[in-house]
Amino acid sequence: QPLLQIRGLQAEIDGKRVLDGIDLDVAPGEVAAIMGPNGSGKSTLAQVLAGRDLYRVSGGSVRFDGQDLLALPPQERALAGLFLAFQYPVEIPGLSNVYLLKAALNAQRKHRGLPELDAMEFLQRVKALMRELGMDEKFLQRGVNEGFSGGEKKRNDMLQMALLQPRLAILDETDSGLDVDALKAVAQAVNAMRSPERAFVLITHYERLLEHIVPDRVHVLWQGRFVASGGPELARRIEREGYAWLQDGQTQSP
Ligand code: ADP
Ligand code: MG
Ligand code: MG
Repeated sequence: QPLLQIRGLQAEIDGKRVLDGIDLDVAPGEVAAIMGPNGSGKSTLAQVLAGRDLYRVSGGSVRFDGQDLLALPPQERALAGLFLAFQYPVEIPGLSNVYLLKAALNAQRKHRGLPELDAMEFLQRVKALMRELGMDEKFLQRGVNEGFSGGEKKRNDMLQMALLQPRLAILDETDSGLDVDALKAVAQAVNAMRSPERAFVLITHYERLLEHIVPDRVHVLWQGRFVASGGPELARRIEREGYAWLQDGQTQSP
């Protein structure tokens, strides 16, 4: 049974249909990559799964871990084990990063019937993860993403992910604008968390990330629909040839 099962999903923004009948299965243990040109609807798909109310779902269904995902409010989607790293992470000046991390982890532990971590245990855990990610501890006291560079925001997303250990992590262009070291840190964080129970959806514009995180499946989004699916070789073809060869919009199975 898939961990994520999307059927006929349609979504609109400002009365414009941006997702036009999405079908996708992601199995436990799988790393799925979603590629597609700018404006094809990749971020919209991530936002709809997260439950952002900017988008209107006008059709279809999404099941996550056996539950009707679209019926859950956004916080409960997170508690159910869905993690989203947005293309443009929000800055929350005045709310310290360490406070947010601790609150998120303890909310999840409570949901799972586990006791809160005490301050010492929490700090030990988070600092160990920061070392692995090459993050300075000073980022704990800063406002959430406040004044972080692109690479620092993405590392911070990986810190949240590693702390929360989600069932499904959706990363929206986590690779955009990253230098090689940050890209490797992100890839390492994902690869270290790959497991038979967990799945990833990597949304990316470029093949570069997929050289470091080899996906099981690659799906290409085009004007709100999937038009091709394949293995890692599909990503390499897109890197070589761009998206133009898909322009006829016909479904291809290379
Ligand atoms: P991608 O992530 O693949 O680049 P998006 O999901 O961001 O694509 O955008 C898909 C389409 O939805 C585009 O045509 C874009 O202009 C439109 N869109 C996205 N967000 C908004 C918004 N906030 N208001 C109006 N249109 C939007
Ligand atoms: Mg875009
Ligand atoms: Mg996008």
